[in-house]
Amino acid sequence: MTIVRALVYLITTVFFVYGVMRLRQPATARSGNSLAAVGMFLALIVTLVGVSIHHPLILIIGILVGGVVGASSARLVPMTAMPQMVALFNGMGGGAAALVACGDVLRLVPSARTGPAGLAIALIDILIGAVSFSGSIIAFAKLNEWMTGRPITYRGQRTVNGVVFGLLIVGGVYLVVSGAAGQAGIFVAYALGAVALGVLGVVPIGGGDMPVIISLLNSFTGLSVAATGFLLGNDVLIVAGTFVGASGAILTQLMSRAMNRPLGNIVFGAFGKLQTGAGEAREGTVQQTSPEDVAILLSYANRVVIVPGYGLAVARAQQEVKELMTKLEAKGVDVMFGIHPVAGRMPGHMNVLLAEVDVPYQKLYDMEAINSEFPRTDVVLVVGANDVTNPDARNNPNSPIYGMPILNVDQAQRVIVLKRSMNPGFAGIDNPLYVHPKCQMLFGDARQSLGLLLQALSEVVA
Ligand code: NDP
Repeated sequence: MTIVRALVYLITTVFFVYGVMRLRQPATARSGNSLAAVGMFLALIVTLVGVSIHHPLILIIGILVGGVVGASSARLVPMTAMPQMVALFNGMGGGAAALVACGDVLRLVPSARTGPAGLAIALIDILIGAVSFSGSIIAFAKLNEWMTGRPITYRGQRTVNGVVFGLLIVGGVYLVVSGAAGQAGIFVAYALGAVALGVLGVVPIGGGDMPVIISLLNSFTGLSVAATGFLLGNDVLIVAGTFVGASGAILTQLMSRAMNRPLGNIVFGAFGKLQTGAGEAREGTVQQTSPEDVAILLSYANRVVIVPGYGLAVARAQQEVKELMTKLEAKGVDVMFGIHPVAGRMPGHMNVLLAEVDVPYQKLYDMEAINSEFPRTDVVLVVGANDVTNPDARNNPNSPIYGMPILNVDQAQRVIVLKRSMNPGFAGIDNPLYVHPKCQMLFGDARQSLGLLLQALSEVVA
């Protein structure tokens, strides 16, 4: 049986590696995901067959509840709520790893690592897993608007967090040196302290920064799962945990780089706190336009670039955007999509929305690729994007987003912005693009505006 299990774990690992490789391209991502899921299923079966199960009923109930909740939320949760769903699921992973490690310390699970080294691994596992659990729950609550999305800060906050962290380290060392078995009180305080640290660490972070924090906590969960693998002597947990830990860390780094904000600024900067004077008052006139005028403009264009942003996700206007693309192409207009790496509220947000309605992948251009095309573009249609088009990021050293690479839409001949009002985006700052002489605003919900635009376009074409 041991050989069979080792062989299946090896196959599972190959499935994981190959599955992750396929996630790199939108066209192959779905099959990559399925492949990794099949690998996980195989690993589960072979693990369950190989152990003596004391309470099968509890196991079956757990699998049924988990399966039903997982499958139904994957189907029912809207795309805009995906970040909080990921947060919740990630928190469960971290919590599960921490609980297994607690079971190991309390000698409730068969351990492969004993002695002080095994205990140290278990305590590190509990610390990271519990922080990931409670931090993810707070991230979920913030994104789901169950609590304020604004940073919650108070004087001396960092000192308090530092002291709690320090006490956990001291407590952990004490438990290893003295042996945890006789120190139940300190062990329980240690586990609860780790849960508290996750809460304390995440409450000062603004709701908009949560996707980056979720990615960081995801990396923590991976590490705790890998540590659990060490404890149980389970190779597949080590491999899967390392994958999650590494990919979470890489994603966190990519996201903070795309926002041009060091990770320390995201974790400790309380970004999104109401600030006075965050945006400077602008001189200039906002020009408003109508769907009919935009339809004429688009009909006579050679090249149109559509720039989607968070507002597209809110309005759920992806189908209308696709129809607009089809209609314009039928008129001989060259249509491209300019995708900023942090447009929306999670990595790949815009790609997923556009893939949902079968916009061909070759029409989606990364920021680097599309920026050189703007000077040759007749019209840019900005659909619910704001910060990712803000020229202040390029020109205004006083701007909070100064230095963040943006889509240079202001270099096109004309810019049409679809949004509901002059309200700012995630960064909470003015966008001087809106008073630029080249720019006109088509106010309204993006889906409704696009509907009117499509109608007007049919009339122009006819
Ligand atoms: P923004 O948040 O800057 O702007 C979105 C705009 O959409 C708003 O100005 C809003 O204006 C408009 N909007 C909202 N609802 C609708 C609607 N129904 N119809 C039309 N317009 C609507 O979005 P961007 O995508 O430009 O930028 C993303 C921001 O999020 C960046 O600052 C990025 O750093 C941040 N971020 C991104 C993450 C990611 O992984 N992608 C993670 C964390 C943060 P109005 O209310 O007037 O309609």
